[in-house]
Amino acid sequence: MCAGIKSVTAQSQWLLPLEVENRASFQGVGLTNIGAFALPRKSRPTVSAHLHAGIDFARPAADKDTVRVFAASAGKVISVRTDGAFAQIIIEHHDRGKKLWTVYEHVAGIKVRPGETVSSQTNIGRLMSREELGHYGSQFNHLHFEVMIVPPKPLVPTARTPHRYFMTYALECETEAELLQRYTNPLEFFKVKWRQ
Ligand SMILES: [Zn+2]
Repeated sequence: MCAGIKSVTAQSQWLLPLEVENRASFQGVGLTNIGAFALPRKSRPTVSAHLHAGIDFARPAADKDTVRVFAASAGKVISVRTDGAFAQIIIEHHDRGKKLWTVYEHVAGIKVRPGETVSSQTNIGRLMSREELGHYGSQFNHLHFEVMIVPPKPLVPTARTPHRYFMTYALECETEAELLQRYTNPLEFFKVKWRQ
């Protein structure tokens, strides 16, 4: 080994958060047609109009029912909700002297709980199965993924969501300035990480 060549360790490694042949490349992954970062989302009965705070990875293989979801990098799980379509995992990372947070949503079969440490090789859950999508709706046939640059908001866990200690700002960024104060574009983020 040549001295001075930086090795990519499991600690510093950032990889795409879902099961594809090469998690260090965008080949073989795509976003849903409304899955881009910062795309305007219309208001719904319980949610006001906002900008999309993350990206929506489409199911990589339409015929594959089980697609595993992985932590994007080493960190600690700080919040989990397992209550249905909006099931969500938040992981805190220390990255080059800064803290940041990754968020994984619409995840089924969640395997981690707050306090657990993970690496980019940790399988934390999976995309919803066909049967689950039939129950919750095909609009959840993707992995919603966020990279947050400010701390998430603390919550008091409830009986319904006993492991949910934090929430994100995903539904309240109405302007680009509000969005970029709290989030970064995950696609740009991975590009930078893969060059470092
Ligand atoms: Zn989304």
